[in-house]
Parts: sequence; structure tokens; C-alpha cells
Amino acid sequence: MVGIFVLKNYLHTVNDPEILIVGGGLAGLTAALDLATKGKQVCVVEKNEYPNHKVCGEYVSNEVKPYLEDLGMEFSNLSLPEIDTLQLSTQTGKSSEIRLPLGGFGISRYMFDNHLYKLAIKKGVTFVFDTVTNIHYFNDGFSVTLSSKKNIKSPIVLGTFGKRSNLDMTLKRKFIQQKSPWLGIKCHYKNTGHPSNVVGLHNFPGGYSGLSQIERQSINFCCLVRYESFKKEKDIDSYFKNVVSQNPFLKDFLINAVPEFDKPLTIAQISFEPKKNIENHVMMCGDTAGLIHPLCGNGMAMAIHSGKLAVEQVVNFLENPNFTRKDMEKEYQLSWKKNFRQRLWMGRQLQTLMMHTKWFNFGMATVASSKPLLGSIIRKTHGAPIVN
Ligand SMILES: Cc1cc2nc3c(=O)[nH]c(=O)nc-3n(C[C@H](O)[C@H](O)[C@H](O)COP(=O)(O)OP(=O)(O)OC[C@H]3O[C@@H](n4cnc5c(N)ncnc54)[C@H](O)[C@@H]3O)c2cc1C
Repeated sequence: MVGIFVLKNYLHTVNDPEILIVGGGLAGLTAALDLATKGKQVCVVEKNEYPNHKVCGEYVSNEVKPYLEDLGMEFSNLSLPEIDTLQLSTQTGKSSEIRLPLGGFGISRYMFDNHLYKLAIKKGVTFVFDTVTNIHYFNDGFSVTLSSKKNIKSPIVLGTFGKRSNLDMTLKRKFIQQKSPWLGIKCHYKNTGHPSNVVGLHNFPGGYSGLSQIERQSINFCCLVRYESFKKEKDIDSYFKNVVSQNPFLKDFLINAVPEFDKPLTIAQISFEPKKNIENHVMMCGDTAGLIHPLCGNGMAMAIHSGKLAVEQVVNFLENPNFTRKDMEKEYQLSWKKNFRQRLWMGRQLQTLMMHTKWFNFGMATVASSKPLLGSIIRKTHGAPIVN
């Protein structure tokens, strides 16, 4: 029986786990829950305690809903808005609504990650709140060093440390050497009458934003902007007023919006460059393996799905003596490529289109008037529902 441990920089009662997960965001938490449900001994090292806010659009594609239900999430108790419509608007405020074939739901990361954390604790997952500073592979296993200078040993490490981490530097990952022009800004607002079933995707010069309801009828407003467009303004308020509000739709929203945060959250240097999904035998999942452009609205679903793919191979490795580490890594890479490579590519193309006003206006009109075309784009950026 695996014990329940929640430790802060305190390790000597943690037995070396069968699987160590570095980063307790969505990929890490769901993989931990899945592995614990399958009877494995799992430890998650996460640098921040729960709950906490994260820069994210907070629209979750329904493709992961059945899997989350399998992992113990009871949606009927959570009263989350169900979203079935996408509203697009151009920089000039031309807007169009499209019904989403699969749809999704709205939930803050504050609530989502914390809910999964509590489920994982119930399943016996061990949590250590500390920052991983290095991951060494030797003698067919790992030694993971924490900022408290403690080490944890484990035969398997999943890298689920998100889009940008100190570990990308330590592991000398290629994408981290290049500067990225993207900045994320997010804030929750009191409900201004934004319909609960609509996720908005609104364009403005140098960026775009997502607008949708989350729990308690709050509205999440999250922007992805190019740094060069942002730095011309002195702060977020003037950026919202002078740049974002050039889209009349967003102007209306921002005039009436009452923020729930003291100030918006920001993250810089968001990279959409291709990444390796295995580095030094660490199996990378979620954003650590590759981040899809947020306009596709399924980064979270992909993070959760990639964690599931890793879990399948890890279980095979632990339970089948003939299935080697090499087999595990190869199978994971193949399944990752099969599920996500085309989606990431398509996301990059859509992002390029959206950043060009003329093309976007033309593209949006074409897409909005053609259901087969829209269906094809959604198929190319989303997956089918996944179950355990
Ligand atoms: C602006 C923006 C809007 C978005 N909107 C949406 C959306 O509406 N819908 C959607 O589906 N997706 C969206 N995404 C994508 C989505 O946020 C990510 O794909 C998702 O969060 C990935 O989950 P993850 O588990 O890979 O990483 P994360 O959730 O980032 O988790 C990584 C965890 O690792 C921890 N960590 C990092 N380094 C260390 C370390 N050294 N030691 C210990 N812990 C560490 C971090 O604290 C963090 O908790 C958006 C992304 C951006 C940038």
C-alpha cells in the first residue's frame, strides 16, 4: 500500500518511487493519477504549492472529458460551463459564430490543477514541493536533484515541466537557446454577460485573445501577443486600451469588465518551436514535448493525452520483462508523432494566417461559410475523445 505524503523540501521518508514525475501541471497530475490507479508507486515533484493561477485560456476540449471521468473527476459536482460555440472576430470587429463539433468546458487552472492534485493525493501519489535542478541518467535509472540538494532515485522519469523551465537550460534543449517573441497575459473578470456556451477568439494588432466563462460564472480573458507590439505601450492597462481595444468587440468587453485579480498574470518567452519528446531517456509529455498554438484551444487536452500515452508505455515496461527501455521509448515516440505532429504543424499554419489581417479576414469569411472546411481544420487540430 502506498502511503500519502505531502512534503515541503523534506525527503527522507519518501521511498524511491517506481516513477518520478517532474512537474505537477496537467500532464504530470493526470499521468500520476493514471499510474497510481494502475497500482504504481508515483512521486510528483512540483515547484509551486496548489492552488495557483496559470496563464491559460482555460477552455478544455471535450476530447479528454471521458478520460478525466475515468480518473475520478465528477463533472456533475463541479458546475462548469459547457461550451459548444466558437466566436471569431477580426481586428475590425467583423465576427462570426461556428458550432464546435465536440465542444468543451471552462475551468480555471486554479481549480483544475488543485482538483486533480486532491484526487492524486487520495490515490496515494506522493508530492514533494521543490524545484528539480538536474536529472541524471546512469546504470539504467535516474537520480533527480532538487534545489534543497536532496536526491530521489527512480527507474523512470517523466518530464512534465511545462513550456519553459530551468531544466530546459540544464538539459541544454535546443529551443531554449532561441528568443521567442510571444508573451501571455491573463486575468479573470466578473461576469459581464458573456454567454456561458461561447468561447471567443478575437484578433487585434500583434496578437489575439480568448474569452470564455469558467466556474462561478467568472470570465477568463487571456491574450497571446508579440512582444514588439506590447513594448510600445508603458503597461498592460495602456496596451489593453490602445492596442487590444482596436478590436471593437474587445473594446466593449474591456470597458465593462471588472477584474478579479489585483493585476493580470504574465509570462514571456513562450516558444512554439519543435522539441524532442525524449531527452537523455526522460520521456517528455505536455508542453515539455511541444506546445500547440493556443488559438487551437487544445494544449491542455494534448498535454493530458500525451501523459496517457507515456503511462501506457511505462506500464508495459514495468510489467513486461521482454519490453525494454528502448522499446518503451520507441513506442512512445511513435504514438506521440502519430497523435500530435500534424496538429502542431497545423497550429503553426493557423497562427501565421491569423497574424495577417487581410488573410485572416478572407480566411475567416471562407471558414465561416464552409462547414466541410471548418470540420477539416478542427479534425487536423483536435483528436477524437480518449478513454482509459
Ligand atoms: C496564452 C496561452 C493560452 C492558452 N490557452 C489554452 C486554452 O484555452 N486551452 C487549452 O487547452 N490550452 C491552452 N493553452 C495551453 C495550455 O496552457 C498548456 O498546453 C498546458 O498548460 C500544458 O500543461 P503541462 O502539464 O504540459 O504544463 P504546465 O501546466 O505548465 O505544468 C508544468 C508544471 O511544471 C512545474 N515545473 C516547472 N519546472 C519545474 C521544476 N524544475 N521542478 C518542479 N516543477 C517544475 C511548473 O510549476 C508547472 O506546475 C494556452 C497556452 C498559452 C500560453
